[in-house]
Amino acid sequence: MTDETLTVRCACGWATTGVVADVVPATIDHGRRLHNMEATPEQVLAMAVQAEADEPASAPADVS
Ligand SMILES: [Zn+2]
Repeated sequence: MTDETLTVRCACGWATTGVVADVVPATIDHGRRLHNMEATPEQVLAMAVQAEADEPASAPADVS
């Protein structure tokens, strides 16, 4: 189980930040109500980026 905080930004300017369990249903609901689109959790996660952490990272991120 992950408590990773993600941000999803929509093309319309809407954005949501939170844990996966909050961001996925919020984004699906947004797409359904504002864009008449039915996104899947996989599509939402593909759009999601890691939210900026409040606490400074002690180790450099290994992004290779
Ligand atoms: Zn939107």
